[in-house]
Amino acid sequence: MADFDINILGCGSALPTTRHLATSQIIDLRDKLYMIDCGEGTQVQMRRMRIKFSRLNHIFISHLHGDHCFGLPGLISTLGMLGRNGELVIHGPKEIESYMRPILDIFCKGLPYEIRFNLIDPTTHSLVMEDRSLSVYSIPLKHRIPCCGYLFAEKAKEAHIIREMTDFYQVPVRMMQEIKRGADFVTPEGEVIPNARLTRPAVAPKRYAYCSDTAFHSSIIPIIEGVDLLYHEATFAECDAARAKETFHSTARQAAEIAYKAQVKRLVIGHYSARYEDMAPLKKEADKIFPGTILGEEGMRLSV
Ligand SMILES: [Zn+2]
Ligand SMILES: [Zn+2]
Repeated sequence: MADFDINILGCGSALPTTRHLATSQIIDLRDKLYMIDCGEGTQVQMRRMRIKFSRLNHIFISHLHGDHCFGLPGLISTLGMLGRNGELVIHGPKEIESYMRPILDIFCKGLPYEIRFNLIDPTTHSLVMEDRSLSVYSIPLKHRIPCCGYLFAEKAKEAHIIREMTDFYQVPVRMMQEIKRGADFVTPEGEVIPNARLTRPAVAPKRYAYCSDTAFHSSIIPIIEGVDLLYHEATFAECDAARAKETFHSTARQAAEIAYKAQVKRLVIGHYSARYEDMAPLKKEADKIFPGTILGEEGMRLSV
């Protein structure tokens, strides 16, 4: 079982190439799946990577450019054919519902499951969704149209009980939940057993930030500061910086600069322009500022 993994299904940009697929990622948090963006080809790529359709309940859309959402109609229809019955929630800027409604009315009549739209304001950093294991926040980005990234923050896990100690102090079973959450134990004789003697701390919760598409935008730095893994778009190389500026995209050097300034632990880049056949120069450029930058590629699975 994956603990907290990122699957890169596609990391190309708008024009199709034989080297890359349009943008999509799937986060696997202890077998619950959360999709970010859904470009064309996403469902085929899910098959290739053996990702289970049935475990997907949330899709987060960054913005309404086709390379991030043209895969939605096909995927939604397939989920219906597979007999899905649980609700599917699509989170994204308000335009997502106006795009999807007519398509659902024409192609998806009689879907065996509900689709709910959670319309968000991409200009604010706010809580988008939370469940037992995770909180998801929007990250306002700087693009040609309203666009936001997403911050996936795992919730703190419960501490591990040290069985020999709880047996020794004869801690009743009904108290175990409280002990896991940090309570001390008071024996019938009134002796206080500090929590630290009864538990081992859980591993620290992890955070993943997805920032695509965006021009260089230093306002995101405080939001993504210190994350365990950052995916930042690097559509262009520095030699095409003028084109990056014009289209509200980033260069590999700018992605690395954001990662460096935000002191993230690891950086993975993607959303490559179709003009480059070889991605090595992008890595080289990023490495100069953020050594060990990971070149994202289709089929890649990264542990957060
Ligand atoms: Zn794009
Ligand atoms: Zn875009």
